[in-house]
Order: sequence, then C-alpha cells, then structure tokens
Amino acid sequence: MCGIVCYVGKEEAKPVLLGGLKHLEYRGYDSAGLAVQHEDDVDYCRSVGRIVDLERKTDSMVIKGTCGIAHTRWATHGEPSEENAHPHRDQDENVYVIHNGIIENHDFLKKKLGKAGIVFRSQTDTEVLAHLIASHFDGDLNEAVRKTMSQIEGTFGLAVIHRHVPGQIVVARRGSPLVIGVGEDGYFAASDVSAMVRYTKKVVHLNDNELAILSRDGYSISTAQAQSVERATETVEWEPEDAELAGFPHFMLKEIFEQPETLRNAMRGRLEIGEGVPKLGGIVPVWERLKECRHLVVVACGTSYYAGCAGMYIFEKLTEVDVQVELASEFRYRKLNFPPDTFIIALSQSGETADTLAAIKEAKRKGAGLLGIVNVVGSSIARATEAGIYNHAGPEIGVASTKIFVSQLAILTLLALLIGRHQNLSLTDGVGAIKGLLALPDQVQKILSQDNHIRAIAEKYYRCNNWLFLGRKYGYPIAMEGALKLKEVSYIHAEGYAAGEMKHGPIALICPEMPTVAIIPQDAMYEKMASNIQEIKSRKGPVIAIATEGDHQIKELADDVIEIPATLDYLNPILSVIPCQLLAYHCARLLNRDVDKPRNLAKSVTVE
Ligand code: GLU
Repeated sequence: MCGIVCYVGKEEAKPVLLGGLKHLEYRGYDSAGLAVQHEDDVDYCRSVGRIVDLERKTDSMVIKGTCGIAHTRWATHGEPSEENAHPHRDQDENVYVIHNGIIENHDFLKKKLGKAGIVFRSQTDTEVLAHLIASHFDGDLNEAVRKTMSQIEGTFGLAVIHRHVPGQIVVARRGSPLVIGVGEDGYFAASDVSAMVRYTKKVVHLNDNELAILSRDGYSISTAQAQSVERATETVEWEPEDAELAGFPHFMLKEIFEQPETLRNAMRGRLEIGEGVPKLGGIVPVWERLKECRHLVVVACGTSYYAGCAGMYIFEKLTEVDVQVELASEFRYRKLNFPPDTFIIALSQSGETADTLAAIKEAKRKGAGLLGIVNVVGSSIARATEAGIYNHAGPEIGVASTKIFVSQLAILTLLALLIGRHQNLSLTDGVGAIKGLLALPDQVQKILSQDNHIRAIAEKYYRCNNWLFLGRKYGYPIAMEGALKLKEVSYIHAEGYAAGEMKHGPIALICPEMPTVAIIPQDAMYEKMASNIQEIKSRKGPVIAIATEGDHQIKELADDVIEIPATLDYLNPILSVIPCQLLAYHCARLLNRDVDKPRNLAKSVTVE
C-alpha cells in the first residue's frame, strides 16, 4: 500500500517523479504529493485524488530541481485530504518526509511534541516523523533519521529531504518495502520497481532497520546501529512494457487474458513428463527436510488465501501431507501446536503483505520450515523464507488479483506433485498430472474466447444486489474467490459458500433477484451440486452454472451455462475461476466502476 518514489540525478526530478507515481498508483490512490529540493529551497505540491490531479496542479507551478521525493497515499490515519497528503513538513518547513506504514506510538509522540510547542497540521501518524527528524537535525540528515528510528514503533518505509541539505535523500525501512535503483544518470528509491524500471533494472533491496543516503554520485547503506552495509545489485526481470496496458482498457482485463501465458511461465522449465516429477530449483535448499514433511501450513490473505484453500485439496489428493490453511492476519493470535517437521508456505503476490510477513516471523519463532510462493523477486517474503518458488508472472497491476491466483494454483500443484511422487503417488498419476497441467494454457484460452457470452450473462444480472457462489471440494475455494472478485470490483454483495452449507442458512436468501453461480464441473461432486441447483430452482433463484463442456443435463437445470474444458478433478479450479473473473469484470464495467482501482482498496497490503 502507498507508493513512494524518489530520484536524485542529472534530470529534472518532477517528470521522473510524476511518471514513477503513475506506475505506483495501484498501491494507493486517495491523494498524492511531491517535494523537490534545489539550492536552499524546496518546491512542493499536494493534491487530493489521483496522480493526474497532482500533475494538473503542478502544471502551473515552478517545481525545479534534480532531487525529489513523491508519494501516493492509502490513508490509514486521517481522511484523504490535502493536509493529510504527504510529504509532511516540520514546523520550520525544512524537513519533508513521505511514509508508507503506520507509526504505532504516534499518539504518545504527538503529545510529547505538543508539550514542546509543536502544532500539528494534519491528522496523520506520519507528521510526527517530520518533527522528530527536525528536532534531531544538526547538519547530518542521515543521523537525524537514525535517531528518529530509535524512537518510533510500527512500520515504515520513509524518504526525507531537507531544505538545507542539497542533493541528498535519506530513505529508511522497517516492515514496509523500499528498493534502491541504480541508474545511469541518477539514483532512485521506490516501494516497488515498477516506478523505475523504465530507467534502470539494477536494484538493491533495503532490509528492515536499514537506512540509505542517495545522492547524484552514489548511495550508501547502513544499519540502524550505524554499521555500513555492502550489498550487490540484482537485475529486475520485468520489461517496462509489462506494466503497460498493451491495448486493453484495463489491467484487470489484460491480466485475465494473459493467463494462458501466466500458466506457461509458472510451469516453464519445471515439468518433466517422463518421470512425472516437476523440477523446482528454488526448494533444493530445503528438499531433504521437505520430502519427509507430513504437515504443511499455508498462510495467506485475500485471494492468496483462497488459492491456499484449493491447494489444501490438491495436496490431499496428491500427497500424504496434512495441510492446514490459515489467514495470515489471524495466525499470530492462534495457539498452534505443529509437529516438529512442519513447513509453512507463505503465499503473496507482492511478497510484501504485512500480515503474511508477521505470520512467517511467528512460525519461525516456533521452529517451522519456511517456504514462500511470491511473484516479486527479492521481496521481503522471498528474503524472509528459507526457500521458495517464484510465479514469474510479470507485474500484476490490477488491484483485484487474477493471474497470480491461477499461477499460485499451478505452483501449489507442482509442489504437491513433487512431494507426492516422493511419497505414494504412482508414475502413471504423475505423468497424468503433468499432461493435465500442460493442457491448461490452451484450455484457459478456450474459456477466454467465450468472453462475449460471459459479458451477455453479466448484462442479464448486474443489477442484482446480492449474489451467491457455491461449490464443493475443489469448487468451494473457487466459490469464495468468485464472490470476492465480484465484491472487490463491482461492489455487489456476494457470498461464497460450500454448497453443502446452503441449507444451513443462505438458502433463506434465495429469490428471483439473487443469482447463484454454481461451480459444477463433472467430478465426484457433480450429483450433489446438481441437487443444490434443484433446490435453488425450486425457490425461483436464477442459476449460472460453470460446467464441463458437453454436459447436457446442466442445460436443463441452469438458466445460463458457461462451459469449461474437461480436466483432472484437482485442476478444475484453474479453469472454473476464469469465468468468475470475467463475470466480475463485466459487472463492474456495466456499473461504471473503476475496476483497476476499486474503492478503498490498494495493491500490496503493507499495513497490518
Ligand atoms: N499512515 C500514513 C498515513 O495515513 C501512511 C499511509 C500510507 O502508507 O499511504 O498517511
């Protein structure tokens, strides 16, 4: 959440910062601001709304200089307003600070600073940083930030400039992402690489409790204890075009249509059909322990959590491992007694999800092995785990996750298959799994070709205010994910339920105005799902069935049918989620929603 971008170099900072902010807007979009240092002065501007609003406002202003910081906010403390937008300043307007995260002891600090005569201009937690840094400043900005770090509790990725410290930016982090970019003509710092990948692919990740000084001539990193840090640069694998719309009206639609490729990328170089065993280089460091493991705990949030739920059924099918799926945000509060050989799998697109990171820390304390399945190379979760598997899916910009969900399902299947083949899974089953996996990209393509049909179904039902999504076993997590997708982007209320639970409550809601999306592929659950559909039809509820091609019976039962190709039962989730994503997208469009930047949401949830 929240986007930070900083630049110091030879170019004028304003256009670099505004361009960077536009690429970070998906991380927060209620207000934005920037500050640029030049000579002994700072020009600065803040605005409520989107980056275009800030850009418009800066058009008529003189903002000169080659050293600046910029921020797009996702408010935690204080409403989205100009006074609460970042950068925040100290009393004398010397220090300008931008911040991602939450200063948890801000109340205490505010009172203390208030007693010393400081008058606060905003309702944010962030403003205390500006006053504290100013109070410690005696000519050395880095030292002032270091001293401030020792006083603050909570999470931060921050960047500071000072009116009287020309050409210098100090950045620091604890719990919120910050990456330094090493360019030809200057240096960058940002919450994620998409802000700077147009200028450089050479990056250095900052670790928790580290600071860095950036100037036109270089950068230096040190710890909060003033130890200097040497760290090699890494090369980003994305291309700048990966973060562009490529002719699609929205990133969400682009990412839905990218899914055949996303699946190929998740499986590329990882499948060997002959042995029926995948190759996963990233888990080699822990393999000897992992292959014996009998207990896995998946920790994740939101869409990743539902991928974990589907993963649980897949592991149960292919391995002898017990799998438990936990909401990362609740994990810390549970009293979990896991067996000594337990592994944790952390699932997160950004690799920065604060709740998931906190869950990993807790699991580490309890001695579990740590695996990560993340998309962003070098992200905090990738670094906090012992081993892991990357999605290699390119940036996901749409706030509502789509392509990463299918990628996570594919990777969980590969991992289950690998462990299963070292346990009891037969060669025949292993080879069958790989054949099934390899067929998926074309099968997804086939579903995508029904986009017009799915849009027509959305046109029929988008005015309904309440929807139900039902599935059993492999279909249950997809029902939950389908409901989540619809509410995230269209703001239609939707419930995802295990179909067997319908009679225990939700059936009371069934009426002609409440459509039900039934996930009913031809698997062992088919007859029971068909009975649930009968129950809904008996109560005049409309039913949209997601069913296997060639299923004639379902056409008699359901009002509308979206067909998916036949596959192995445990691969069905990868196919059945696609129509749910398209239904959500089209309903949102028909309701005129901003699908890529839904109300109140933001990508990469770096606050707890
Ligand atoms: N807590 C800060 C605020 O509310 C930072 C929020 C953010 O990460 O955008 O302003």
